[in-house]
Amino acid sequence: MTLVIEGLDVRYGAVRALRGVSLQAESGRATALIGANGAGKTSLLRTVAGLHPPSGGRVLLDGVDITGTPAHRLARGGLCLVPEGRQLFAELTVAENLRMGLHGTGVRGSQVAARIEEACGLFPALHDAFGRRAGLLSGGQQQMVAIARALVRRPAVLLLDEPSLGLAPRLVTEILATVGRLADDGVTVLLAEQNAAATLRCVHRGVVVQNGEVVRDDEAAALLADEEVSRHYLGSSTSPDDAGEEGEAGEAAVPEELPQVLRGPLLTS
Ligand code: ATP
Repeated sequence: MTLVIEGLDVRYGAVRALRGVSLQAESGRATALIGANGAGKTSLLRTVAGLHPPSGGRVLLDGVDITGTPAHRLARGGLCLVPEGRQLFAELTVAENLRMGLHGTGVRGSQVAARIEEACGLFPALHDAFGRRAGLLSGGQQQMVAIARALVRRPAVLLLDEPSLGLAPRLVTEILATVGRLADDGVTVLLAEQNAAATLRCVHRGVVVQNGEVVRDDEAAALLADEEVSRHYLGSSTSPDDAGEEGEAGEAAVPEELPQVLRGPLLTS
């Protein structure tokens, strides 16, 4: 599905978080919003996901105007947000968290286990953790659960807010590579990341956001090769010596096979 954002304005009272933002995210491509803290990335994702009303502009999905559609209807229609900070149920097990992802989908019985199995195809490290409490997992594993909890719904459009936040460098690369592979399977992926250089190596397109405005929108390789972009936006956070907050290396390798992602018509239910 093609996600088109046209002239989006977002305000929080007197604060203008987004000013006339326009961009496009396409099926089978991962598009990254990069920019500093406070640039407006989260506001954009939350507005597209129906969690915050825009004060201007439109959001179109395959030409259908979905501006202002409530988040639960968008989620039912296949547009899912993996929020910043994972927001798992810490006291519940991994399996229980993943089952929560199926809420409202009508998937029941033996199909539940099949969906969970399918969603975890990208994350073999989770297979041994189904019975563990989510709050006891490493940051990397928690992020995998958060993504898998969205994947159980077989989303056509996946929005991810800072999936690499707080992870050790090896896990950053692993999570971002996985996100890129999701797009390869046909999902429309739009993610927000501060970890700009590492992200641009794993996605197809990059949109640089600064003070609520798009200042560059280009193929990821072109942005990586651009000296000005490099100087201003691709900071030192991507240094191989940089240690993430998590301070541990993840166990999971990125598998070759992806789950089959099915796509249905949006907003039909
Ligand atoms: P971060 O990486 O910190 O999440 P971001 O690029 O996602 O940054 P936003 O969180 O979208 O940026 O914030 C954009 C602007 O809107 C900032 O100036 C921020 O302070 C402001 N803002 C965000 N949420 C609110 C809110 N609920 N109320 C008031 N201002 C807000």
